[in-house]
This record gives sequence, structure tokens and C-alpha cells, in this order.
Amino acid sequence: MEKVCCVCKRTECSYKCPVCREPYCSTACCKVHKESNCEPPKPQQSEATKVNTIKYEFPTEDTVPIEKLQQLHSSKELKNCLRNPHKWQMHV
Ligand SMILES: [Zn+2]
Ligand SMILES: [Zn+2]
Repeated sequence: MEKVCCVCKRTECSYKCPVCREPYCSTACCKVHKESNCEPPKPQQSEATKVNTIKYEFPTEDTVPIEKLQQLHSSKELKNCLRNPHKWQMHV
């Protein structure tokens, strides 16, 4: 991202405001900027959380494949049926 001087909109900025992190190109612009009573930027915690959530949505090597989960589920159902023969008959 190109840094644009927050005072005169020049793109060659060698300075940064220590308070609000806005870039400016020269000490002259620094003086002008300081007269605007800038405030420190708000912490963007919500953005960081968003990024983390997206990261967790991707499957990792530890993720159990859906197929395996389905196998487990069906075998559990089968066990329940075997344990309750009556129920099993009712379903069939
Ligand atoms: Zn400037
Ligand atoms: Zn500032």
C-alpha cells in the first residue's frame, strides 16, 4: 500500500506521526498535522479475530475426515440396534 502524506497527499513520505501513524512527507507537514490534534489509532482486534476464524475453517492434517465420522456414526447406530433388538425390528 502506498503511503500518502496525510497533509499534502504526496506519496513520498519519510515520516510517520508517532501518535496516529499517519504518514507525512516533511517536517513542514508534520507541523501542520500536529495542529490537527490527531488521536492514536484504535486497536483493530475485531479484524484479527476475523482472520483467526477464517484460518480455523481450513482443514488441517488433524481434521477427522467426514467419511470416518459417518462411519463412526453408523456403527454407533448399529450397536444401538443390536443392543435393542426390539427397536431394531420396529425400524425394519
Ligand atoms: Zn506532505
Ligand atoms: Zn497524527
